[in-house]
Amino acid sequence: MSARSWIAGFVILLALGPVLLPEFHITLLNYIGLYALVALGLVLLTGVGGLTSFGQAAFVGIGAYTTAYLTTTDGLPDMVAWLGVSPWLTLPASVLMTMAVAALLGLLTLRLSGHYLPLGTIAWGISLYYLFGNVSFLGGHTGVSGIPALSLLGVDFKSGRNFYYLIWAVVLAALWATQNLLDSREGRAIRALKGGAVMAEAMGVDTARSKLVIFLIAAAFAAVSGWLYAHMQRFVNPTPFGLHIGIEYLFMAVIGGAGQVWGALVGAGLITILKQWLQDTLPGVFGASGNFEIIVFGLLMIFVLHRARDGLWPVIVKLLPARTVRREVGATDPLPLRTKPAPGTLLLDVKDAVKTFGGLTANNRMSLSVKAGEILALIGPNGAGKSTLFNLITGVDPPTSGEVSFLGGRIDGMAARDIARLGMSRTFQHVRLLSAMSVLENVAIGAHLRGRRGVGAAALHLERAEERRLLAESARQIERVGLAEQKFEPAGSLALGQQRTVEIARALAADPALLLLDEPAAGLRYLEKQALADLLRRLRDEGMGILLVEHDMDFVMGLADHVVVMEFGEKIAEGLPEEVQGNPDVIEAYLGGVD
Ligand code: ADP
Ligand code: MG
Repeated sequence: MSARSWIAGFVILLALGPVLLPEFHITLLNYIGLYALVALGLVLLTGVGGLTSFGQAAFVGIGAYTTAYLTTTDGLPDMVAWLGVSPWLTLPASVLMTMAVAALLGLLTLRLSGHYLPLGTIAWGISLYYLFGNVSFLGGHTGVSGIPALSLLGVDFKSGRNFYYLIWAVVLAALWATQNLLDSREGRAIRALKGGAVMAEAMGVDTARSKLVIFLIAAAFAAVSGWLYAHMQRFVNPTPFGLHIGIEYLFMAVIGGAGQVWGALVGAGLITILKQWLQDTLPGVFGASGNFEIIVFGLLMIFVLHRARDGLWPVIVKLLPARTVRREVGATDPLPLRTKPAPGTLLLDVKDAVKTFGGLTANNRMSLSVKAGEILALIGPNGAGKSTLFNLITGVDPPTSGEVSFLGGRIDGMAARDIARLGMSRTFQHVRLLSAMSVLENVAIGAHLRGRRGVGAAALHLERAEERRLLAESARQIERVGLAEQKFEPAGSLALGQQRTVEIARALAADPALLLLDEPAAGLRYLEKQALADLLRRLRDEGMGILLVEHDMDFVMGLADHVVVMEFGEKIAEGLPEEVQGNPDVIEAYLGGVD
């Protein structure tokens, strides 16, 4: 069965739910839908983006309290009083309020690294919970009652059955939009956050912005869930928005399958049903009342993290027939090209660049320049400082002192993504691919700056024309480097030499004026090296400037127009390949520093 028929079957079952099931089960399914919406935000934030939040319940609370307050308070100032007229007006108000608080918290906490971010989310999760309980106009611990029921076009949502359709329509829409978003240019940037941030920045992605985007989307989903909750219960108090519920939401996302949108449903369903069942049975077993289910959840979490690290959804998918996405890209108009500098134009000019790491001088007064239509090879023994020089040119790690200019303008101190925008693109010595993503998608990250359409368009799939052009361009670069056969394979399944070649295709997808390649031939077989050399010659003849780090002397000698030799962070020789080859210092460096 295709994915489409599975989804169709699922939707039909959902639609039949209220017809077939007793009221009690419908209520349970309503809760599962509300929880799944929050868990879906966490799948995006934590599972895909790698940002752990324990504080989502607080965002649900802001959504719920905003509408509760606006729809039940008399005598509000005119500016906001009109919102209270209909709960539908408070929906955008709830979402915007939550997103505003999230934006503030996100700007403060998203920059925190490692364990500090989760700790930060715990801190604001607790603070907001106490705020709900202690602010008198929100009813303190007693909460707010008398929240109006929803109605639309004469249909009222007082009954659980009607509310069911509303909740599940929202959940399905959110699943669809999230899936769309992940399958887009913005989505690739988001998927690169976990484990590929340095690479993504070098390809022009603003990773801080992408983090904030998923943080805000997760907050918005939580807010919608809170708004629905408030109008379903028609009463709110602080209890469902506490830290322990925040932890449960995270449970749902992790147990369901933190990187998969459908995992949010599985997790929310499983945890909700299990919690219900445990709350009914455990007190009998222990002979006392208490929240014993928390203990079981803890054990379950440990078990899942041990046995099914990626959650249950991938396990379920494995039981279904295998399905590989091989969506060929049809003909489209090619993306516009950058106006290239004329051959011979000075592209890159490095003057007296110094880079120190503590006491170690990895680059000492290095100078070199690259022109359009020229291949400059940078050679030297291991540890000479070549990759360090690449990093300071491309903005990955700025120079300690010295000047770097590109196309006549200073770029030292600029962010990697801004340098990329100017037309410089690179590969990494230690391959930086997203191994679970296809070769095609990896290469498409290189074309990030050639697309314009944003998150909203992606979520609604309104950017398909641009997306086709980006993928067609990526496919073209993959064919150019000779990997057409592997286009749909996960990048991690390729041999290391081929992975390096994927990096070249990704760099080319940016349509650069200057290409920096860090040991591209390492791990390639003889014929593959010949093919790579041919490709680089062709690129040079088209007017591209190429700065190439390489170990293989023979490879470099037949290819480079000029050579710069480094040892111990300094330039020890430069010139035409044959001049450098005979230089006694170079021979000494190479024979002395065996690599
Ligand atoms: P190459 O690419 O020529 O093999 P590198 O530029 O990788 O050499 O390294 C040059 C020197 O700088 C090495 O001694 C290396 O250990 C050191 N180095 C590189 N990056 C760092 C870093 N981030 N922190 C500390 N030392 C570093
Ligand atoms: Mg290196």
